[in-house]
Amino acid sequence: MGRERLYLFDTTLRDGAQTNGVDFTLNDKLAIARMLDELGIDYIEAGYPGANPTDTQLFAEERGLRATFTAFGMTRRPGRSTSNDPGLAALLEAKADAICFVAKSWDYHVRVALETSAEENLASIRDSVRAAVREKREVLLDCEHFFDGYKADARFALACAKTAYDEGARWVVLCDTNGGALPHEVERIVGEVVKVIPGSHVGIHAHNDTEQAVANSLAAVRAGARQIQGTLNGLGERCGNANLVSIIPTLKLKGEFAERFEIGVSDAQLKTLAHASRTLDEMLNRAPNRHAPYVGESAFATKAGIHASAIMKEPATYEHVPPETIGNRRKLLVSDQAGKSNVLAELERIGLKVDREDPRIGRLLEVVKEREAIGYAYEAADASFELLARRVLGKVPSYFDVEKFDVTVEQRDNALGQRVTVSLAVVKVKVDGEHLISAAEGNGPVNALDLALRKDLGKYQSYISGLELTDYRVRILNGGTEAVTRVLIESQDETGERWTTVGVSPNIIDASFQALMDSIVYKLVRSGA
Ligand SMILES: [Zn+2]
Repeated sequence: MGRERLYLFDTTLRDGAQTNGVDFTLNDKLAIARMLDELGIDYIEAGYPGANPTDTQLFAEERGLRATFTAFGMTRRPGRSTSNDPGLAALLEAKADAICFVAKSWDYHVRVALETSAEENLASIRDSVRAAVREKREVLLDCEHFFDGYKADARFALACAKTAYDEGARWVVLCDTNGGALPHEVERIVGEVVKVIPGSHVGIHAHNDTEQAVANSLAAVRAGARQIQGTLNGLGERCGNANLVSIIPTLKLKGEFAERFEIGVSDAQLKTLAHASRTLDEMLNRAPNRHAPYVGESAFATKAGIHASAIMKEPATYEHVPPETIGNRRKLLVSDQAGKSNVLAELERIGLKVDREDPRIGRLLEVVKEREAIGYAYEAADASFELLARRVLGKVPSYFDVEKFDVTVEQRDNALGQRVTVSLAVVKVKVDGEHLISAAEGNGPVNALDLALRKDLGKYQSYISGLELTDYRVRILNGGTEAVTRVLIESQDETGERWTTVGVSPNIIDASFQALMDSIVYKLVRSGA
C-alpha cells in the first residue's frame, strides 16, 4: 500500500553487448528481449539502430513486447541541425517506444572529445530531446560521465541534465561511465540532483569498476533516483554494469526497499530469476558463476554437519533469504528434497502432470543428477529435459532406430585443383521394420550427419520437413586428453517454435548426434506423430 514505484531498465542488449567475447545475433537479441519481458523488466534497451545491421534489423519491426522497447543513440552532432544528422534520423525512424540519447555532461569531455563548446553541447541535448518528443517518443537522456563531471563542474553537469528534463525527457539518467564512483559519493551527488530534477525522473547507470555497481545503484535509490539501469549477470564492458540479477531480489526481499518500493517483477516472476540468469550464460556459452549472489548454484549450498541439520530444522538459521523465492535451491549433502520440488516445478512448467508421490519422480531426479554430473546442461536444453522426463515417465513412442551411421571427412584436390575438405554422412534407420539408407554431403561432419538423418524418415518425414537447425554451440568441459564436449543445438520449425537440445560425449560427432536426435524426436512428439 502506497509504495513508490521503481523502474528497472535493462541494457544487456546494448551496454552488455560491449562485453569482450559477446556477440549477439538477431535471434539471440529477440530471445533475450522476450526473457526480460517475461521477467517483468520495465525498459529493454535493445541496441543502437543505424550503428550495425543487426540492430537496424532489430528495430525495423514492432516487437510486440509489454516492456518499453528502447533504442539507444547519440544526440545530434555538434554543428549539425537535427534534420541533417543521419544518426539521429535512424533513431527517429526506429520502431521503438522510447529513445535513450547519450550526451556528454563532463566539461572536460566536451572540450577534449567533442571539441565543441559547452553551449553547443547543451543545444545538442535540447534539440535532440525536442525532436524525439515531437515524434511522440518517450525520451531518456544518459548523462555520460555524470559523477566525474559533477565533481569537476557541478553547474555544467546539472545544466545538461536540467536541459533534457525541461525539454520533456521522461528520465535523466546519471551515468558513472568510468565506474569509479563510490556509494557515499553517489548518494551525496544524487541527493543534490533531486533538488533540481524530481527523483521520479532520475535514473542511475552504474558500472562495476570498484565492484560497487549494485551498491551505487541502491545508494542512488536511497537518495531519490527512481530508475535503475543494469544488465543480466552484470554483463558489460570492462568489469561490467550493475547486475540486475542481484538488484532485483534485493529490492524485493530486503525490508528497507521492499517496504518502500514496488517494482514490475512479481513474486512469481522473481521465482524465474535463477533460470533467466543461467539461460543467458548458456546462450553465451559461458559457465554460470557458481558463487553468484542469490542465483549461483552454491549461493545456498551448505556442507553436511551442524549447519545442514540446523538448516533442515529452520532454514532461516543460515540463509539470508529463502532460495526458492528466486528460483534457486538449497543444496545439502544429506538430503535432496529440494531437488525433487525442483523437478516437480519443471514438470509443471512443461505441462506434464505427475503425482507428487509418484516413485518415477525420484528416478527422474536420479537420472538428471547423474547426467548433469557428466556434463549435460538442462537449464538451457529445455527440449532435451522434456524428452528425458517423458522417457522416464514412459511417454515417448519409439519412432525409429538409427542402426548405424558413418561420417567421413576427406581433404583432397577438386577438379579445379583447389584443396577442399568434404564431409559425407551415411545413416541407416529402421522405421516400422523398414530399413532406409540416406547419404548426404555437408560443409562439415555435423552438417552432413544432420542432412542425412533428416533426409528420409519414411512415414515421419512430413512431420520434420519444416525442421531447421538454427544454432550450434560447442563447449569443451574439461581440458586435456580427458576433455568432454557438450553440444547445444537450437532448432526451429515452420511455426517459428524454437527449442534447444543437448548432447555430451568425448566425441564431438557423437555429442552432436545425440542433440540432433533429441531435436528430431522432440519435433515428432510436439507434432503428435
Ligand atoms: Zn554504460
